[in-house]
Amino acid sequence: MVQVTKHSDTHEVFNQPTPLEHYNAYASDLILQHYVYAFSGDWGDDALSEYGRLVGNELQTAGFDANHYKPEFQSHDRFGHRIDFVKYHPAYHQLMTAAIKAGHHNLPWVNNRAGAHVVRAGIEYLHTQADPGSGCPLTMTFSSVPTIRHQENIAKAWLPGITANIYDPRDIPFYEKQGLTIGMAMTEKQGGSDVRSNTTYAYPLEIAGPGNPYELIGHKWFCSAPMSDAFLVLAKTDPGLSCFLLPRWRPDGSKNAMHIQRLKNKMGNVSNASSEVEYRNAFAWMIGEEGHGIRTILEMVAMTRFDCMIGSSSIMGLASAQALHHASGRSVFGRNLHEQPLMQNVLSDLAVEAEAALAISMRLAHALDNDEESEQLLFRIGTAIGKYWICKRAAQHTYEAMECIGGVAVVEDNVLARLYRESPINAIWEGSGNIQCLDVTRAIEKNPNVLEVFLMELDKATNYIERYDGELNAFKQSLMTKNNNEHILRRQVEKMALLWQASTLIQFSDEKIAGAFVSSRISQDHGYMYGTLPEHIAFRDIMDRAKPKV
Ligand SMILES: Cc1cc2nc3c(=O)[nH]c(=O)nc-3n(C[C@H](O)[C@H](O)[C@H](O)COP(=O)(O)OP(=O)(O)OC[C@H]3O[C@@H](n4cnc5c(N)ncnc54)[C@H](O)[C@@H]3O)c2cc1C
Repeated sequence: MVQVTKHSDTHEVFNQPTPLEHYNAYASDLILQHYVYAFSGDWGDDALSEYGRLVGNELQTAGFDANHYKPEFQSHDRFGHRIDFVKYHPAYHQLMTAAIKAGHHNLPWVNNRAGAHVVRAGIEYLHTQADPGSGCPLTMTFSSVPTIRHQENIAKAWLPGITANIYDPRDIPFYEKQGLTIGMAMTEKQGGSDVRSNTTYAYPLEIAGPGNPYELIGHKWFCSAPMSDAFLVLAKTDPGLSCFLLPRWRPDGSKNAMHIQRLKNKMGNVSNASSEVEYRNAFAWMIGEEGHGIRTILEMVAMTRFDCMIGSSSIMGLASAQALHHASGRSVFGRNLHEQPLMQNVLSDLAVEAEAALAISMRLAHALDNDEESEQLLFRIGTAIGKYWICKRAAQHTYEAMECIGGVAVVEDNVLARLYRESPINAIWEGSGNIQCLDVTRAIEKNPNVLEVFLMELDKATNYIERYDGELNAFKQSLMTKNNNEHILRRQVEKMALLWQASTLIQFSDEKIAGAFVSSRISQDHGYMYGTLPEHIAFRDIMDRAKPKV
């Protein structure tokens, strides 16, 4: 028998920070509040605070569970009938229920108050901190609305359910449900970026044309959230690619012939089921003009790209908050990590990056709230620049935040591990990096006013910081010698992103943040690594601003 003595207590646990949990993710985030107020979203304060409370408490737990217990695909029931069912952990449904109740998927479509897009962006920002995976069906549902509005008969039948604040996960026909969710399926095996290579074919059931029923034969290589009530799908007809709404159940009450082949075994975004599907004469309605499917679905894609900006800003915001919170409670070599100059530089640099990302994302939410043509043009070019830059910056950002926390951040029960695996995904889907850069060129070529509006936005921040003014002039000069060489397109879009972030911070942020951004990013000084801000920066002030107030 083992002798139990007092020596069996090997050690006392000390010098471990408290976890960042049981807190209000909105009330503790002064930077998010700052941009909500700056862009007319102050009326959403109470709702955001309530959602922030959920995110910092029960939804945080749900986020862990929904990612730990993966969605499961059940092809048939026990009697052999095909059911094409995906079973989610209750935590996933909890996340969806809360987000839909809060208006993640509908706020600006049901409330035309100025600032509605900003408040809704705030809800998405908070929700992503609980679970980015469920953000996928939420954003697809949100983004489907402008596209579905194109087709009056379909819009009439579907939009009340899509924009309801009710999450109804039952696998039953859409007309029996009060709340509906929407997915999208464009990508095929032979091409995701180049959807013109799609081979899925659509045959009219009776009369061809917008709003009419078709049957689709083909496959889709990525179809996320396959339990959605319907999917916006691209398929060919004789005139070219057209857009369709393909319901999970046919209008006659039978199950539609959309057969899930399997779920993808993904490295991130685990709570969100992503499937491969086949259409075997699957029923669908044509949406928008025949042969103009890309143009029709691009309205949805523009919104999902914007949501990727908010999502990646949120991932960086949380990574930064976790690193700051941890470092303030951890002492190394006898001194708190917050007091160590080298760590101060890394933490400040991460905070500046996260705020710059949020600043331009919220600036675009503000543009969406505004009907002026110039704001719409800014949104057009801003989503391409912003999606490229922010989503790419997130991957290195989460890794660096992980390193600030040290070994414990690599462990799966720390959210950093999940954020790290999540961080490259927004950059890949909804148009990968190169596609965004090419889209910047396309937007300018199609309408040169886009560039003019963008330059006007940059001009708004002149006469404050000399270095910014100089760099902006140099950029304008470079535009005179038009260089269409695609080899250097990433460098050009990066320059545009940095100038725009600087401009937005100069106009709307604290001057210390804007100063730190300009003196590190708008020059040749900044190293490739985070933690390379120049020495004169107000490190402590920057850390204080970004550290969660718990
Ligand atoms: C988690 C997840 C969920 C997804 N869910 C969905 C979904 O629900 N519905 C859906 O339709 N799709 C979905 N996708 C698919 C996604 O949209 C595609 O993976 C993406 O569009 C890229 O397509 P691809 O994988 O075929 O890569 P490709 O198109 O082969 O591209 C590969 C690379 O080539 C680059 N490239 C392409 N063209 C050019 C060019 N002209 N010049 C230079 N570089 C170029 C791209 O930027 C990319 O980096 C999902 C993807 C992921 C990761």
